[in-house]
Amino acid sequence: MNSVTPSSPGVSARMSRQASKDTGVELAVRKLLHAAGLRYRIEYPVPGMPRRRLDVAFPGAKVAVLIDGCFWHGCPEHATQPKANADWWRQKLDRNMARDRETTEHLIAAGWKVLRFWEHLPPEEVAAAVRAAVDEEKRRRGRRGGSARPSDRA
Ligand SMILES: [Zn+2]
Repeated sequence: MNSVTPSSPGVSARMSRQASKDTGVELAVRKLLHAAGLRYRIEYPVPGMPRRRLDVAFPGAKVAVLIDGCFWHGCPEHATQPKANADWWRQKLDRNMARDRETTEHLIAAGWKVLRFWEHLPPEEVAAAVRAAVDEEKRRRGRRGGSARPSDRA
C-alpha cells in the first residue's frame, strides 16, 4: 500500500489514522484487558497463515481478537469510496474484506473463537466483550473431557 500516493486530503487522513492504529483503540483495549488481569499476545501469527497477524491473541483459550479499521475493512457506517482511482480502491478494499473473511474462516476451522470489532467502538465495550469470551472459552475448555466420559459404553 506504500506504492500509491494519497490522492486527496481525505484519503491521506484515513491512511495516517491507519498508521497510528497502534496508539488508538487497539492500545486502549489492550490496556483495559491488562488492567483486568488478562494476559495475551499481540501481533500473533495466524496459525497456518504466518504472514497474517492477530491484533490480540489468547493462544491458550484459542481466542483471536481483530480490531478492524473502518476504512480499510469496509465498516458499513464509515467506509467511504475515494473518488480518485475509484476502481483501484474498490478492488483493494474488496480484497481486504475477502481476506478478512478467509482469515476468520481459517481460524474457526482451526478451533479458534474469532472476535472482530470496528475501530469506532468504545474500547470499554470491546474489552468487556473480549473478557467475556475468554472467560467462557476457558471454562468450556477446562470442562472438556470431564463430562464426556464413556462410562455407559459397556
Ligand atoms: Zn466504523
